[in-house]
Amino acid sequence: MSVTYKPTIGLEIHAELKTQTKMFCDCLNDASEKHPNVNICSICTGQPGALPTINKQAVEHVLKVGLALGGEVFADKESKFDRKNYFYPDLPKGYQVSQYDQPLVTGGELNKIRLIRIHLEEDAGRLSHSKEDSLVDYNRAGVPLMELVTEPDIKSSAEAASFAKELQLLLRYLGVSDADMEKGHMRLEANISLNMGTKVEVKNINSFKAMEDAIKYELARQEKLLKANKKVSHETRGWNDVKKVTVSQRSKEEAQEYRYFPEPDLPPFDEKSFNIKSIKADVPELPQDKRERFKKEYSLTSKQVDVLVQNMAAAGYFEEAASELGDVKKTNLLFNYFTSDVWGLMKKRSVDINGLNISPAHLAHVIELVADKRITSRIAKNLLLKMHETGLDPSEIIANEEWEQVSDESSLKPLAKQIIKDHPQPVADYKKGKSQSIQFLIGMAMSELGGKADPNVLKGIFEELLKD
Ligand SMILES: [Zn+2]
Repeated sequence: MSVTYKPTIGLEIHAELKTQTKMFCDCLNDASEKHPNVNICSICTGQPGALPTINKQAVEHVLKVGLALGGEVFADKESKFDRKNYFYPDLPKGYQVSQYDQPLVTGGELNKIRLIRIHLEEDAGRLSHSKEDSLVDYNRAGVPLMELVTEPDIKSSAEAASFAKELQLLLRYLGVSDADMEKGHMRLEANISLNMGTKVEVKNINSFKAMEDAIKYELARQEKLLKANKKVSHETRGWNDVKKVTVSQRSKEEAQEYRYFPEPDLPPFDEKSFNIKSIKADVPELPQDKRERFKKEYSLTSKQVDVLVQNMAAAGYFEEAASELGDVKKTNLLFNYFTSDVWGLMKKRSVDINGLNISPAHLAHVIELVADKRITSRIAKNLLLKMHETGLDPSEIIANEEWEQVSDESSLKPLAKQIIKDHPQPVADYKKGKSQSIQFLIGMAMSELGGKADPNVLKGIFEELLKD
């Protein structure tokens, strides 16, 4: 008899919040600071008698995420901070200020996965170990950290990865976190079990790919144990991304008792201190809603829409340019030029959409010119480059450079005749049936005219002239 094993997966995701200062003091929250222990003070290094205060911006960020995901904020009327006690060298106070039984946000949903809670806490410092010694950098200690916990609704490694990716995008849309996994702004943990059996927690997951791999590995490991009638032990395992295995870190039976208790230096607080309405009003159109709308309004494919929505600023730019187009049928051409030529140009010049010196209206104008065959696609490339360099209107550049497409037969025919005369070999090849030789002749004519000739008209002329 074969038994099927149903995976049950829940995620815990931490994200460092983008704020001016740290969670409970006035030190800069600067993840890019390279010098150790620069942004520290008596509060975030846990000196006796130092008094913390709550960073309102950090609380607002978490409320914004909660509201965007349809969660309930201040469900328990009040919210408060608690001390989570444990000892580790990266935790100068000997406890982490976190939230235990009254999180800021309860419930909510993303990608049809239900959320249990979202709460706010402080990050720990960073340890670096070498053969000689271990060093600690407290720049990150006290940086506001959001923790989001899902219900165990996830059924596969792919679903887990797509949830995490969508959350990353959402945090960026909301402007609350850079959520860069490589820089440790966003960290993933997964609770994994089969057939609702013993849960295993997997930590040290540092990329979406690692999460898929870790979950797949762990599901296979547990299935093998169950098939052999062995017990899955309740434990925390770490993902080893080099060996591609999970390794036992500590058993839950000997789990630490955190002895949570309310943070005595910070009073409980409620929604009266926050303008919930204005935080809600500040939530932009969410990625999923934008995808649906773009598909409908611009008749783009799901794949095209995904490319655009991945970057909120780029999606906004595209939309502005599209609104300048006379015909919705041209949005496909716009999409192609925007995601290939314009993005290529941005990459080459190392600028993002804000550093692009081409206005959406000007780009739309270029699309109209290409669609109306006033310029060739080869000229369009040069035109975009020139527009970025000068910021000028495309018509002005085309007039100055005399880049208008040449498509009238009367001016192209004499040139074609000359090229036929000058290149007897490809002409002979063509006549012998090597049809691609005509591309060479078209290419010669094109370069003669600096890419301005209409290649289709040229093709027609050559075919006509070489008929017999
Ligand atoms: Zn500080």
